[in-house]
Amino acid sequence: MLFTWWRNRKRRKILASPMPGHWAAILDQNVAQLSRLTEAQRTLLYQRVQIFVKEKYWEGCNGFEITEEVKLTIAGQACLLTLGFATDCFDRLQTVLVYPDTYVAREEMLNSIGVLTEGTSFRLGESWGQGPIVLSWESIREGGQIPDDGRNVVIHEFAHYYDAIDRQFNGTPLLSGPEEYRRWNEVMTREFQKLVSQVQQGQETFIDPYGSTNPAEFFAVCSEHYFEQPCLMQEYSLDLYETLRMFYRQDPARQY
Ligand SMILES: [Zn+2]
Repeated sequence: MLFTWWRNRKRRKILASPMPGHWAAILDQNVAQLSRLTEAQRTLLYQRVQIFVKEKYWEGCNGFEITEEVKLTIAGQACLLTLGFATDCFDRLQTVLVYPDTYVAREEMLNSIGVLTEGTSFRLGESWGQGPIVLSWESIREGGQIPDDGRNVVIHEFAHYYDAIDRQFNGTPLLSGPEEYRRWNEVMTREFQKLVSQVQQGQETFIDPYGSTNPAEFFAVCSEHYFEQPCLMQEYSLDLYETLRMFYRQDPARQY
C-alpha cells in the first residue's frame, strides 16, 4: 500500500515534465505501429514510455552501450501491449538486459526419456518470469521497423512476462474470472493443437511454427501476430483473435 503510494507519487513527478521533443521522432522510426494508434493511445503510450525508461534498470551485455534509442525502442514496443490496461507499466519488471546481437546461452534440457542434455543455444531474447528480460538489439530494431511480418521479439518476450505473472509459465496469463479462463482454455488449446498438427503434417502455417513448441510459446508467438498482423489473424481464426482481444483489451484490427 505504502509502496504503491510512493510509486504513484514518483510517477506523477516523472509525468510532470513533458516527454523530450526528440523522443517522438525516435519512437516513430523504431515503433512502426505508432502510426496506427489513436491520439489518446499515442498520449498514453508516451506516458508509459516515460515511466518505463525511467523506472527500469538497463544493462548492456558483451560491451553493448545502452543509448536513448535503445531504451525508447524497447519501451515503445513493449508499452504497445499495455494500452488496453488501466494501469500497467510492467510493474514487476526491474531489469532489462540488452545484447548487441544473438547471444549464446548455456542450457540444460531434460528430454522425454530422462536424458539431460547440456549445451549452448543462440538466442534472440528470453524472459525469466519475475526476473529480467533479455533482448538482442539487432532483432529489436528490425522487428520495430517492419511492423507487419508477424515477428517482434519485444512483443514476444513481454507476452512471456504476462504469462509468468501468476508464477505459472503455461501459456495462460492472469484473466479476470472463470468464464475468461474457460474460454481461453477452450480456444487456445484447440488452436495450439491445430498448429501442432499443421506442423507435423509439414503444412505451411500462418502462425509461426515455433508456436507449436509448447502452450507458452504459442501464446507469445500469437501475440506477435496479433499486434503485427491483426487482420490476417482475424481471417485465420476469429476465435483466436477475439480470445487475445479479451486479454489485451484492445482491438488492433480496427486501426488498419
Ligand atoms: Zn518464447
